[in-house]
Amino acid sequence: MSKSALALLPCAILLALGDSTTAAAPIPVMVLDGQSGGPYHDWQHVTPVLKKELEETGLFRVDVVTAPPSDGDFSQFHPDFNKYRVIVLNYDAPEWPPELKASFETYVKNGGGVVSVHAADNAFPQWRAFNEMIGVGGWRGRNEKSGPMWHFQNGKLIPDPAPGPAGSHGQRLPFAVSARDPEHSILKGLPNVWMHAGDELYAHLRGPGQNMTVLATAHSDPANQGTGRDEPILMVLSYGKGRVFHTTLGHDIAALSCVGFITTFQRGTEWAATGGVTQKIPPGFPTAETVSFRADIAAMDPAWKQRR
Ligand code: ZN
Repeated sequence: MSKSALALLPCAILLALGDSTTAAAPIPVMVLDGQSGGPYHDWQHVTPVLKKELEETGLFRVDVVTAPPSDGDFSQFHPDFNKYRVIVLNYDAPEWPPELKASFETYVKNGGGVVSVHAADNAFPQWRAFNEMIGVGGWRGRNEKSGPMWHFQNGKLIPDPAPGPAGSHGQRLPFAVSARDPEHSILKGLPNVWMHAGDELYAHLRGPGQNMTVLATAHSDPANQGTGRDEPILMVLSYGKGRVFHTTLGHDIAALSCVGFITTFQRGTEWAATGGVTQKIPPGFPTAETVSFRADIAAMDPAWKQRR
């Protein structure tokens, strides 16, 4: 080896190190919160749970951005969506100023990721682009004009245009989540059926349902005010170049402590950001018979100690 080639070596090593550091840089994620449809969604205590569940993977760096209340002053609220690979919505407001909506639409159209958690699909009933991103939503005055109800029948996603309101659920009981696209990278390696901890099973959701793949459904039990249908629970969608992961799970911290919720949320967020999933399935994943929850997450609920 010549002297000049030797002199280049440390440089090459530094470059290699530099490359690996870049590859391992955490994915920047915004958790957007600031409002919910009522006191039953405790967004202030849910946000730290979502942040912890993402950051503990080592894959993500999470900033929390809190929007003003919908009747508040939005003139100074200009979140820089483009600084993030994915926006996680723990947020349910009725409407946004047009410029803010346009900025979010542009971000997603150009390839930004979105994760919609539980009641985030109650938000923005009149915002067409938002409803195209999430596929289906409920409440806040949605009805047949918002789109058909979507459910699974004989292995197919079926629209039901019957008139009526959108959004219902029964008591928060455990229920089975069934894979409909088990080879999708978010679900690959998970059991085909697993028990979710007690949660609201959303039903009667309506929306355009375009560019939407239902990854998993749950049977909405008529004995628990259900529809008797297999309702969409986990979905992926595209909007322009952007990827959307939509989970209807996660009413409260008890539901968020389910290992099935945590795993699909972590994997869905990675997929929305990158289009792939590198995470392993954690030990203690729920089975078709047994729920499985994380006590350290459940204990983040201020009401947890009183309940025990
Ligand atoms: Zn809820």
